[in-house]
Amino acid sequence: MQQCILCGRQANHHIALDSGEKAHYCWPCFGVWECNRRGLDPSRYSHPEKIVVSGKTFSVYYHVYSEGIRYYAVGDSKKTYLIYSCLLPFEMDGMSATAHLRNIVAEALKKKALSKDGTLEDEGFIDIWYSEGTSSHLAIIIDGKWYSIHDFIEMLQARQAWRMHFSFEDTYPQPESEWFLIESHMPKDDLKSKQNPN
Ligand SMILES: [Zn+2]
Repeated sequence: MQQCILCGRQANHHIALDSGEKAHYCWPCFGVWECNRRGLDPSRYSHPEKIVVSGKTFSVYYHVYSEGIRYYAVGDSKKTYLIYSCLLPFEMDGMSATAHLRNIVAEALKKKALSKDGTLEDEGFIDIWYSEGTSSHLAIIIDGKWYSIHDFIEMLQARQAWRMHFSFEDTYPQPESEWFLIESHMPKDDLKSKQNPN
């Protein structure tokens, strides 16, 4: 386990610097480093570390993208997998962004993909993850809970003679994700004009 060189917390962003050294940052400190590198003022994006929505606690993080700032709400419970994100414009400050993220989480938590009796609702989201613990190496995540592919097949059996139409989309990082980055591959000072367009 590497510690963040700025705050000492567990680091999950590891950068191979041009100097040949390695720098390790926790997610919040990496956000600040990334802003500084890309010409953005990180103080604009400061946000509460945690939010509570419908009794569930989420940690808030962000990453800088060329199109904007992507904020993440990562559920704190180890038993459930709940991650939501939204991409917001550079002009929006961190507090407004957090309010926006909170709304997205609240809406998402209301929509359950699985009914109380264990059958799949007409619409919903299902995450598909690699899992070492199962014979199929696949985990199915519905409403934040982990299921095996066999559980999933049982859920489908209750939907015999129905048609499922689906669309795949890119998902969010797992809470324990680690990022490995190479400084020379990362853009620099390319977003200066985006934060303050005037
Ligand atoms: Zn840190």
